[in-house]
Amino acid sequence: MFPLQRYEKADSVQDAIRLLSDNPEAKVISGGTDVLIRLRDGKKAYNQLVDIHDLDELKICDITADGTIRIGAGISFSEVIASDIIEKHLPHLHKAAETVGGPQIRNIATIGGNICNGVTSADSASPLLASNARLIIQGPAGKREVALSEFYLGPGKVALDQNEILIAFTISKQDYSGYSGDYFKYAMREAMDIATIGCAAACLIDGNQLVDLRLAFGVAAPTPIRCKQAEEAACGEIINEALLTKIGDALAEDVNPRTSWRASREFRLHIIRELAERVIKNAIENAGGTLT
Ligand SMILES: Cc1cc2nc3c(=O)[nH]c(=O)nc-3n(C[C@H](O)[C@H](O)[C@H](O)COP(=O)(O)OP(=O)(O)OC[C@H]3O[C@@H](n4cnc5c(N)ncnc54)[C@H](O)[C@@H]3O)c2cc1C
Repeated sequence: MFPLQRYEKADSVQDAIRLLSDNPEAKVISGGTDVLIRLRDGKKAYNQLVDIHDLDELKICDITADGTIRIGAGISFSEVIASDIIEKHLPHLHKAAETVGGPQIRNIATIGGNICNGVTSADSASPLLASNARLIIQGPAGKREVALSEFYLGPGKVALDQNEILIAFTISKQDYSGYSGDYFKYAMREAMDIATIGCAAACLIDGNQLVDLRLAFGVAAPTPIRCKQAEEAACGEIINEALLTKIGDALAEDVNPRTSWRASREFRLHIIRELAERVIKNAIENAGGTLT
């Protein structure tokens, strides 16, 4: 039994904001794959819920007239995988979605919940970071926008008020057009498991030049991160094996993994370097480039 004290189903985003504002103890539940586990574990913080699951306003997945991709926060990972837009323009996010849980989890777990829970192992976080995703958030005062890179405040902490709803992620055309991408999740086993390290890369190449690299990791630090030093070392350089080594060396400045029961810090540092090389190489090859 779940020790639920109060449950209200919102019939719109506006209604959810009203219900949350009326009850400061209430929390949002979407797919519930995180919330219900916390509730079952007896976390009182989640015993009063406002349900936003299946609201049409959160289910968009389209490209606007100016080329911006919009991904609704209420899209499940199965819907992410089924989206032609995401498969074509954000292959790293598509691949990451395929690694989440098992089929039952992917059918119910939402991409919005994956980011709002604030955990560093969230598989969608690094691909969204690599594509400079922005968040559209709605609260009592209206809508606001924030970069995903500014949304994470610390482990499990995000820049979201109790009575705000994440509506959608947006990715501008300049952040995906011409970019190829890849994602790799290293986990303790191939079956359902959360990431020991997750790595996403988005690359823009011109012939044998790496014009732009965006490299992001989950579990390489207390929150998902972009790797600025590694990116700086890569941008504008000629694509070859030596460049991968240079990027790997620069990465040491960007990451700060911890030791946990899953893996030691040292093992994670080794995997981080290995994954970066593999994911960048794949992204370059997916764009038609070759490493010399
Ligand atoms: C068996 C199992 C396997 C899993 N495997 C993986 C995995 O491989 N990779 C992975 O990344 N995760 C995994 N997870 C974790 C979980 O499934 C994901 O984090 C999922 O995406 C959460 O989405 P949800 O809709 O279920 O969120 P919920 O549980 O409904 O909510 C999560 C948090 O986000 C908040 N929230 C949700 N949506 C919104 C919104 N639109 N606006 C404001 N706040 C919101 C809630 O208040 C809550 O704090 C797994 C979970 C289980 C149970």
